[in-house]
Amino acid sequence: MFNLSGISASSQNAQRHVKTLILGAGPAGLSAALYAARAELQPLVLTGTQLGGQASLTHTIENYPGFPDGVGGAELGELFQKQAERFGASVEFDTAHSVDLSQRPFRVSADNGEYLAETLIIATGASPNHLNVPGEAELTGRGVSYCATCDGWFFKDKEVVVVGGGDSALEEALFLTRFASTVTIVHRRDTLRAGAILQKRAFENPKIKFVWNSIVTEVIGTEKVEAVRLKSVQTGEEQLFRTDGLFIFIGHTPNTQMFVGQLDMEGGYIKVDERMRTSVPGVYAAGEAADSHFKQVIVSAGMGAAAAIEATRFLEAESG
Ligand code: NAP
Repeated sequence: MFNLSGISASSQNAQRHVKTLILGAGPAGLSAALYAARAELQPLVLTGTQLGGQASLTHTIENYPGFPDGVGGAELGELFQKQAERFGASVEFDTAHSVDLSQRPFRVSADNGEYLAETLIIATGASPNHLNVPGEAELTGRGVSYCATCDGWFFKDKEVVVVGGGDSALEEALFLTRFASTVTIVHRRDTLRAGAILQKRAFENPKIKFVWNSIVTEVIGTEKVEAVRLKSVQTGEEQLFRTDGLFIFIGHTPNTQMFVGQLDMEGGYIKVDERMRTSVPGVYAAGEAADSHFKQVIVSAGMGAAAAIEATRFLEAESG
């Protein structure tokens, strides 16, 4: 688990003035913190609600260089944090909810108070999409889940359904086979979006079955999930499919709502140039809040480092 010992909560209604404020403590935010700390900007990271970001919810990350045997998502986040703190970054458990980027210092309101920032690095990441079907919200935490690493253990010898056909769906379905007796992947097409290695592993796994060309239209259960209603997108035919759990991996939406109207955006993502600069000088964005294309831990980490280097140069240019 994450090392919370170094994380403090700022006192209620305090106002803090910092050179570099970083929103988000995933790979982008913590890599930005490392670089900003080594440039002696004494960065302050506000974690938001997901310390370590989405990557921390992944059981094993196999494609982050330097770890030939893979590394746990939570462990990698903890290492990022430790390394940034070693050089003087502060990580605080606080969530920003509004910003004023109209003038410097930028003003950020968070649960525990207000922050004034000379430079701001946005690394707020993305959150999992919901199906938005009847029963989904009511049964979340009672069989409906968006995180196999968090909840897979509860489904020992049970049957589960996974929705989606991308890398996340297959990776998480494979992880669920450690616990569940069967994992049925329901996908709305008859070809998968996921990469070749994951497809091969899934097709070869005897516990994984597929229902093609189908969508989930309802989650059924009183106390907990008992079944899902599946609908064929080809024939419109419906069937009740018995299951103990429903894991949903149908993509993500960037956490950028609070920047609407203040920064240039495209499709919900913050627009950045090749130097991670947003439309407001002194404000940078990195990771999945600004990356609609790659969405990889290493890319987010690289974007975070680049954003911090740019913030450093921006402040240096100002001080002459
Ligand atoms: P994704 O690639 O966008 O895939 C989402 C999947 O959900 C697609 O198969 C899509 O179907 C399906 N879907 C979307 N909306 C749906 C709906 N309303 N109902 C039913 N199905 C729906 O998302 P992801 O798998 O979370 O991956 C996101 C990014 O992270 C990708 O770039 C991926 O490569 C990356 N990633 C990489 C790794 C890795 O490298 N090991 C692991 C996880 C994620 P269609 O295919 O029909 O559009």
